[in-house]
Amino acid sequence: MGSQSLAEIAATADKEHTPPAYRVFYDGQCEICQACVSWLKTLDHENKTICLPISAAALSACDSRLRMDDCLQQLHVVSPEGEIHTGWDAVTCLARLFPSTRLLGILGGWFPLRQAGRLFYQFVATNRYSLSKCRGGACQAAKPETVRRQAKLSAFWSCYTLGFFIRLPLVLWAGIKGAAQRVSIFARTYNKRLDLLNGKLTVFFLNGTLPNTVPLLFGELFTAVVYDGVAVDPGSPKMRRSLAGHLRRAKPRIAKVIATHAHEEHVGNLNWLSELSGAPVWVSERTAQFLTPFKKLPWVRATIIGQPPDLKPPYHVLGETVDTESGCLQVLATPGHCDDHIVLYDPQEKLLLAGDAFMGSYFATPNPDVDSLKWLASLERLMKLDIEILVEGHGHIHTLRADIPDFPGVVIRQNPKVAMSQKLEYLRWLRQQIEAGFQEQLPVRVIEASCFPWSRRTSWESCATDECIRLLSLGHFSRTELVRSFVRTSSEPFPTVYEVRISGGEERPS
Ligand SMILES: [Zn+2]
Repeated sequence: MGSQSLAEIAATADKEHTPPAYRVFYDGQCEICQACVSWLKTLDHENKTICLPISAAALSACDSRLRMDDCLQQLHVVSPEGEIHTGWDAVTCLARLFPSTRLLGILGGWFPLRQAGRLFYQFVATNRYSLSKCRGGACQAAKPETVRRQAKLSAFWSCYTLGFFIRLPLVLWAGIKGAAQRVSIFARTYNKRLDLLNGKLTVFFLNGTLPNTVPLLFGELFTAVVYDGVAVDPGSPKMRRSLAGHLRRAKPRIAKVIATHAHEEHVGNLNWLSELSGAPVWVSERTAQFLTPFKKLPWVRATIIGQPPDLKPPYHVLGETVDTESGCLQVLATPGHCDDHIVLYDPQEKLLLAGDAFMGSYFATPNPDVDSLKWLASLERLMKLDIEILVEGHGHIHTLRADIPDFPGVVIRQNPKVAMSQKLEYLRWLRQQIEAGFQEQLPVRVIEASCFPWSRRTSWESCATDECIRLLSLGHFSRTELVRSFVRTSSEPFPTVYEVRISGGEERPS
């Protein structure tokens, strides 16, 4: 549960849900109960239920008849009419709420299935503590520090593994759904161009035979952006043909070519585009250092994205602002994703060209050169800006503005500041988890697991994709890197390819 208190949730529950919701009280320290809640939330598309971990505050706020001891022993569901269902009857009551389980719910209420169900429920309820030894190890409802101190690591793993296997069908289904979504977005954006704000902002989607594997497998699209005469991040050599086609068709006016940072999928065509358009190249001093000469990429990345050529002079070094055709952009240093990152901000239009400084609110398998503590500080600074349109470097636009038309999979109807504050909240929570873990000298694998408690929907929803990425990148991009990104001691910045977005629903960290 989030920062909202449980009592508050219980009290406001009815206002937020129409019709009023069923309140489900579960043992927030039991991995089996948590796993069942994951299933319930998957079934409950219409928010007919509210799941509340048992606490004195939540119980008293809901119904004075609820007693802590009873609730800890078996499932309690309070219907909108105030009826209390317990144990197996609570299970069948919930099952009757959803089309796919309705029949089971009805049958489960009849003789002799009702009697058999009650026996089975009783068996699981009394044995769940022996099945799941660690009370709260992977659980966010308990205080993680206390739990970590008390729980033995073997108990932690038995609990974490149990939670994983109960959710395995959900994990696999989420992986398949994610893949289908990526294919659909890829097809819709293939060599497409988006003209926005009366032509002031154009997003070119870049493709290439091998680069296409990245949006298909990981969901990051490749783009080049032209904003008010400024071309930003014109792709890699392997996307050059795609970009050339776009330029032939769209004939945009380009007066400057800028890179937000020295990652290969952003900087491979700087000189090429400059020569083609006659527009000079502008980069930050730090980016120029990385590009002269550009380090030799690991072979996988060189093969898929393409080794960028070194930056050739002449080029200009970015100052605090850069003129555009009709105004001026502020240049803001935003280290974190990598050390040399800058973003471009138009205060007139309230538009931020964020490059890779914002890549969705939740991500789990970062580059090896990410420094999450620096990223946190950069995001905190960006939060002070007035932003209505946020353009990411990998094809997503966050905005509520009506003059930006819908484009499913690309335009995300969310206030950019809300998206950024979600990311900040997530990074702060991770920092707390990781710092506590290192202080207690836990193994990195345990700290990593504690950053992905199964009670968070994103943990299991992105699990299949994250582990595929770990496998395919030979561990280069992984959840383990996320832990490392918080404890960098020596910064050895090295440009890398991309990060991976966690898509889908999210639950707020506690
Ligand atoms: Zn990058």
